[in-house]
Amino acid sequence: MHTIDMDLVEMTLDVMKYAIDRISNVTPELGAPKKEEELLRLVGETITPEGIGGESAFQLFKNVLVKATVPIDHPRHLAFVPAAPTRAAIMFDLVTSASSIHGSYWMEGAGGIFCENQAMKWLVSLTGLPETAFGVFTSGGTAANLSALVTAREEWREQKPAHARDRALLITSTGAHSSIKSMAKVMDADVHLVNSEEEFLSGTALQQELENLSEQDRNRLFAVVATGGTTNAGIIDDLEGVANVCARENIWLHVDCAYGGGALAADSVRHLFNGIEQADSITIDPHKWLFSPYDCGAVIYKNLELAKKAHSQKGAYLEIFKDEGAQGFNPADYQIQLTRRLRGMPLWFSLAMHGTNKYKEAIERGIELANIAASKVEQNDLLELVRPASLSVVLFKRKGWSAEDYRDWTYKNHNSGFALVTPSLWKDESVVRFCFINPDTTEDDIEQILATLD
Ligand SMILES: *Cc1c(COP(=O)(O)O)cnc(C)c1O
Repeated sequence: MHTIDMDLVEMTLDVMKYAIDRISNVTPELGAPKKEEELLRLVGETITPEGIGGESAFQLFKNVLVKATVPIDHPRHLAFVPAAPTRAAIMFDLVTSASSIHGSYWMEGAGGIFCENQAMKWLVSLTGLPETAFGVFTSGGTAANLSALVTAREEWREQKPAHARDRALLITSTGAHSSIKSMAKVMDADVHLVNSEEEFLSGTALQQELENLSEQDRNRLFAVVATGGTTNAGIIDDLEGVANVCARENIWLHVDCAYGGGALAADSVRHLFNGIEQADSITIDPHKWLFSPYDCGAVIYKNLELAKKAHSQKGAYLEIFKDEGAQGFNPADYQIQLTRRLRGMPLWFSLAMHGTNKYKEAIERGIELANIAASKVEQNDLLELVRPASLSVVLFKRKGWSAEDYRDWTYKNHNSGFALVTPSLWKDESVVRFCFINPDTTEDDIEQILATLD
C-alpha cells in the first residue's frame, strides 16, 4: 500500500488540484442534503473487497457526494455559526495531515506542539489571565467545556473532601449553549439553570440564586458557567459581576466563549468581556471566529497545574522518555483526549503568515456587517429589529410572518442555491437570525438576502 506508483502520483495531483480549486473558490456551490437511500442509489456501495479505485471514488465524491454538503464558508451562509477558514490555514491543514505527527506528547510532537503553543500564547494574551495561565487545543467547544468542567470538579473534590461523594452541581443561565447541559450529563452532574428572558446572567442574579440554594446544594456546587457571547444572540454575561461573586464565594468560574472568543481580539467590543481575566477556565473555538478549519477548539486554564491533576494519564509505556529534549509540554495532560491531531497548527501558520492585526480586522468586519445589517433592517418597513446587533449576531422579525413562513423562506433560499439563512427564537417568537463570520460577505449579499423577505 505504501509503494509509490504512477497511479498514486496521478491521484495526488488530482487531489491537490481539487484542493487548490476549492480553496480559491470564494463562492462554492451551496449544496443541500439528500436522503441516504438516494445517495446510495447514485453512488452504489463503495467499500468492496477489491476496492473501486481512487479515481472512481474521487469522482463520486466530486460529482455527487460533496454536492450533498453545505459549504460553511459560503458568503451567504449566515445560519448557525458559519465559518471562514483562511486559505493559509486550510493549506496548512493539509500539511498537518501530511506530516503525520502525534500531538499528545512533546517527545514525539515537539516542533508541532511548539507551533500550537505559539498560537495559544496569543489566545491567552487576549484573555488578560495571569502568567500561570495556559491552554491546549481540543476538538471543539464541547470537548473544551468538558475538559474545563472535569478540572473544576476535581478541584472542588480536593477542596471539599467531606462532599467528594456528593453529586456535583453547576450553575449556568438559560442562554448557555446546549453542550453545557450535555457535558454535565457525561459527568453525571446536575445543572441549576438561572432563568433569564434576555439570555443574560448578571452578578446580582447569580448572588440571588446562591442565596436561595439549600445548604446541601451550596456544598455540592462546583462551578458557575458564564457565556461570552451566547450562540443564539451574541450576548455576553456580566462577567465582571459574576466573577466578583465567584471570587467572594470561592466558586470555579468557567467562561464559555466558544463562539464569541474571537471578539476578544476586537478593540471595539473588548470592554464587554471585562472580568474574563478573573475566570478559572475559558473555552474559545478557533473553528468559529478565528478562521481555523474544523475541528479546532481551545481550553485555557488560569492554573494549568490543576488541569494536569485532573487529566494526566499514566501508563507504563509512557514513562520511557530519557533525553532532555523529550521533556516539555504534553497536550494530553490538559484535556480529555490522548492521541490527538495537532489541530492548532493550521491556526499557527495562518497567524504567523498574516499577523494578528489581520485577524483583528477580519473580526471587526464581522461586527461591522452585523451593524450594517441591523441598520438596513431598521430602514425596512416590513422588518423589525428585536434587539441591537450583538457581536456578529442580528435578530429581527418579518412583520406578519408565522413560524411556517420563516421555514418556507429558509427552504426556498437554500433550495435555489442562493443562501443558507435560518430562523431562530427570541422570547419564544420566531425571528430571523444572521450570524456573520466571513469577512468576504458583502453589503450587497445582505441586501439581496433582505430582498427575499419581501
Ligand atoms: C458552538 C458552541 C459550543 C460547542 O462547540 P463545538 O465546537 O460545536 O463543540 C459551546 N458553547 C458555545 C457558546 C458555542 O457557541
